[in-house]
Amino acid sequence: MNGSTNPPKFDGNVNIDQRTVNGHTEWYVKDIGTFHRVNAETTFIGPPTTSQFYNKIKAHEDKHLDQFNTGKYSGLWNANGLYSIRLYKMTSLVSKIDLEATISMAIDAEDSRCLDVKNKDTCTVIEPEAYAAGNSADPDFLELDEADWRPKYNCN
Ligand SMILES: [Zn+2]
Repeated sequence: MNGSTNPPKFDGNVNIDQRTVNGHTEWYVKDIGTFHRVNAETTFIGPPTTSQFYNKIKAHEDKHLDQFNTGKYSGLWNANGLYSIRLYKMTSLVSKIDLEATISMAIDAEDSRCLDVKNKDTCTVIEPEAYAAGNSADPDFLELDEADWRPKYNCN
């Protein structure tokens, strides 16, 4: 009686090129390349589609898709934003690998920040909304109240 939805994430790579600046080779971010946001995706719905509980689990996971892909958390893992604010201006006079490391650190830091926001709201917004969606889908039984689901997410 469960399902699973992966949160959004970053994927792909910006393009790096090199140029000569004041006689030195400089590696720089040329364009956004394939760097992008991967939307939240439901990877698993426990009950088979023929089960009467399938709709309840699907409603729960669909709520997570709404939250992360179009709703209040859709601004997280904003690849275009990260690129246009920070990544586009990164350079290295050392090496391509050095520039790649700097870019990776910035992406990892933003990924961590987004995960922190998600984790902070798991018990207060994200799961309560999803359980409410699941509970309001038919059939009108086998519903989980807060005391049932909160321990699952280590919510106090
Ligand atoms: Zn959930």
